[in-house]
Amino acid sequence: MARLLKYLPNHYQQSIFEIDFLVLQKEKIKVLMIDLDNTLVPYDVKRPSKEVIKLLEELQTLNFTIIIVSNNSQKRVAEFLTGLPYLFVAKAHKPLKKAYRKALKLLPIQHQTNEIAVIGDQIITDVLGGNKMDFYTILVDPILKQSDVWTTKFNRFLARRVVRKIAKRYPNKYQEVLKDYAL
Ligand SMILES: [Mg+2]
Repeated sequence: MARLLKYLPNHYQQSIFEIDFLVLQKEKIKVLMIDLDNTLVPYDVKRPSKEVIKLLEELQTLNFTIIIVSNNSQKRVAEFLTGLPYLFVAKAHKPLKKAYRKALKLLPIQHQTNEIAVIGDQIITDVLGGNKMDFYTILVDPILKQSDVWTTKFNRFLARRVVRKIAKRYPNKYQEVLKDYAL
């Protein structure tokens, strides 16, 4: 795959709450590796909202295995998930493959790469990392960009450049996936 296309998600949706998970189920996705910060809640929100709790419960009902994969600290992720039954990897170092390999090890059974979807708000970490693993990648908008930490702000700067390049070099793919994605 061309290097630039590693930054192109398979799908874009404005928010995780708008993803049609029944379609993913039909496409035989079994595992959802979900980013935490600015995908489920803003950086400065410590506990899941009712909406998040409900969504995760619904996904379990649909038989998805859920793993939270976050670059944030053990403390942050463990506190967020207190009392909730979901697997997680903290300090994951996305986009490195080892982040997802750790997550794979936590799974009760082995899965094919095409049974795994990554959902996240960052092209430079979530999308690139997921694509490197050949997972199905879904990009969402950050819930509250102002809450980004500085590393994320820098990553978004890089992501904007990458998206502009994709738009220029692969206009059809850009139209197909990212035309509604606001830089
Ligand atoms: Mg994030």
